[in-house]
Order: sequence, then structure tokens, then C-alpha cells
Amino acid sequence: MKNKKITRKIIQGMYVLTTIGGGCMVDAVSQVSAGDNPLIAVAVMKKNYTNELLKKNNKFALSILGEDINPEIISTFGMNSMRDMNKFEKVTAEEVEGVKVLTDSLGYMVCEIIDSIDNDTHTLFIGKLIEADVYKEGIAMSYGYYQEHKEELIKITTETGKTAWVCTVCGYVYYGEEIPDDFKCPICGVDKSLFKKKEG
Ligand code: FE
Repeated sequence: MKNKKITRKIIQGMYVLTTIGGGCMVDAVSQVSAGDNPLIAVAVMKKNYTNELLKKNNKFALSILGEDINPEIISTFGMNSMRDMNKFEKVTAEEVEGVKVLTDSLGYMVCEIIDSIDNDTHTLFIGKLIEADVYKEGIAMSYGYYQEHKEELIKITTETGKTAWVCTVCGYVYYGEEIPDDFKCPICGVDKSLFKKKEG
């Protein structure tokens, strides 16, 4: 491949995907058909707990994040697993069609899952839009905007006196003088090259 970096020019947004029992941040979302109940495709990492939940549930919701989003939402849904905490305790949500959506967002889409395709890393879930609403007007946050403003959006605090490696994609912190060569971020799956060393 001559230069895979061109794939970074694909414009993606920032969303909180929720389903019954959990949720996570996603960026790979696309409307893939037209009509009154268009199809919405979303890719979710296989090792995410949310992926397991989606395979049991028949619905998901996407809350669309604006550029003015409360950073707490990103750190809650982007850097933690529902296996370890109840993310919904930290945000305001309402239930629509049985799925919790975040009220501090631009709006939501609720979909019924009609198909899914597994690849090596992700599952592509295809849902039919069954309910949607706009909470407020605003600029939707793109993945590029998030990357540029990550430092302000997610305040990463590391323990003093310890050498930390911070995942530049999701903010996960690994403690240790050296990070193993085969290390993969347990939250977002990226490899060692995307971790930045921070001396404590
Ligand atoms: Fe990460």
C-alpha cells in the first residue's frame, strides 16, 4: 500500500452508542439508505463489552455529540468499560424505545438491528431508523475536531512519581517505565506507537 494515511481524510463524527445495559463512543457511523426509515450502519470494536450487548439486543441508539459537549461524557463513554462502572450514573439520559439516549447531545437516532457483519476487528451493525429527534442546533463534533482538541476535551491526570504511557486516541493510561512492544490499548485497540510517554 502506498500511503494508508489517506484513510484519515474520511470524515467521521463522534457519537455515543447505547444499547440496553451499556454503551461506548463510536466514530464509524453512516446513513446507508434513504426513505422514511433509512438504514444506519455503525462499526463497534469486537472486544468492546457493548459489542457483546448488541449481539443480545435488537436495538441501538446513537447520541450525536456537538463541539460543545461536556468532556465528562467523552471520558465516561470513551475510556471506561461498563464491566467496571455504570456509565449512565454519570450522565443525564432519557429512555426512548427502551434505549437510553444522552440529553446533553444534539439529538439521537434509535435503530432496530436488522443485520450484522463481523470482520477481524469490528462488527458492522446495520439498523433501521425507528425514532429520532433533535435536541438543539449546533455543530456536530467530527473525529478530526476531537483529535485536534483532545487535550482540552479530556483532561488526563496521571499519578505523580510514576511513568505513564497515555493512549493518544482514547486517553487510557498505562503505568510502567517501558510499554511492551505488542501492547494494545484495552479500550480502543491501538498499538504501542500511538502511546505517548509522560514522566511522573
Ligand atoms: Fe486507547
